[in-house]
Amino acid sequence: MSAAPTVREDEASMLAESVAAAELTSVGEDDEEEDDEDGISASDEESSWIAWFLSLRGNEFFCEVDEEYIQDDFNLTGLSSLVPYYDYALDMILDVEMAIEESLTEEQQELVESAAEMLYGLIHARYVITNRGMQAMYEKYASASFGRCPRAFCCGQPALPVGRSDLPRNYTVHVFCPMCRDIFTPRSSRSASIDGAYFGTTFPHLFLMTFPELIPQHGVQSFVPRVFGFRIHKASPYHTTASSEYGVPKRRPKASRRSKPNWTSSSKASTGNLGIAQI
Ligand SMILES: [Zn+2]
Repeated sequence: MSAAPTVREDEASMLAESVAAAELTSVGEDDEEEDDEDGISASDEESSWIAWFLSLRGNEFFCEVDEEYIQDDFNLTGLSSLVPYYDYALDMILDVEMAIEESLTEEQQELVESAAEMLYGLIHARYVITNRGMQAMYEKYASASFGRCPRAFCCGQPALPVGRSDLPRNYTVHVFCPMCRDIFTPRSSRSASIDGAYFGTTFPHLFLMTFPELIPQHGVQSFVPRVFGFRIHKASPYHTTASSEYGVPKRRPKASRRSKPNWTSSSKASTGNLGIAQI
């Protein structure tokens, strides 16, 4: 009778030991992760501004722009009028020691930092439509770094980043699906807050034209809504008052169009599509 409790005690102590060990391991792992993060920041001073910028969470959509490309003034034509503190920002991107840095206030230095991010973004938009830039984006696309189309019938098709405007501060970045050719909000909220102009309106389309072997078969399969297994009649308000199968609003009778809304650029685009669809 006395042996049993001893065994239990042993088991209990073994269990306690293994739990403690597990805790130690997990604590150790956490420490390691923290160390890794610290490691990144610790090596900041040695690594380039571009490498640091690309390592930030949420910046995974950006590729590395060649310093040679940035150093060529021709490639930066017109950007000085778009970016505040342009010269400082450019020096920061290229890791040029800034002698005047000391004369800047802390607030000004922060402005230069955000200007540098904007300048890099606008240079990036130009770079990704060059051969070298597209090659860099090809590698990211091959590993689905830009996420995948959430549409069920697109079966996890990798997406490409796209802007809805080529000018900054208009729209955040979206992802374009080469299969259904629609745009979506990126899954990562950090990525979704990046300015779309840092990728531009042209990139995904020129990319697919450059690598036609990457163009997937156009998504012919579309979802058919059914009620108790039956398709909904075309004359049903389900179709006539909401939107068509393709998400394009149907033209309403004149009487219901009395109040004309203020068209935004996106609604202009959809009326444009409507015109084409109906011709
Ligand atoms: Zn899709």
